[in-house]
Amino acid sequence: MSVKSTISITEGRGAMTLEHTELSSLVSAADLAELDSLAAAVSDGMDRIKELHPAYSWKWTDEIVCRGCGDSLEIPVLRSTTPVADRVFADHQQFHLQYMLNDNDQYGGE
Ligand SMILES: [Zn+2]
Repeated sequence: MSVKSTISITEGRGAMTLEHTELSSLVSAADLAELDSLAAAVSDGMDRIKELHPAYSWKWTDEIVCRGCGDSLEIPVLRSTTPVADRVFADHQQFHLQYMLNDNDQYGGE
């Protein structure tokens, strides 16, 4: 399927945008239905991610720990501010969201 999709997290909510040119000529109705279900999966998946990776704790000035899975996440040296930590943690959630969407069995699927 020649449609490029990006998944982003804005203020803790999952969102998906599709970049395309002349979508209707490139994608069949079946593919469009698949995109709709993928968008729904992203939304449902984000709810699951927020259960599994709900928040982080500061462990040190350059390290935070996910309270859900216990992963240590590095904060860039001299940039140990809350906005930076929020961004690093959002990346962590997004990584797991991508992983879950790519391999549903790992997370139990539907
Ligand atoms: Zn986590």
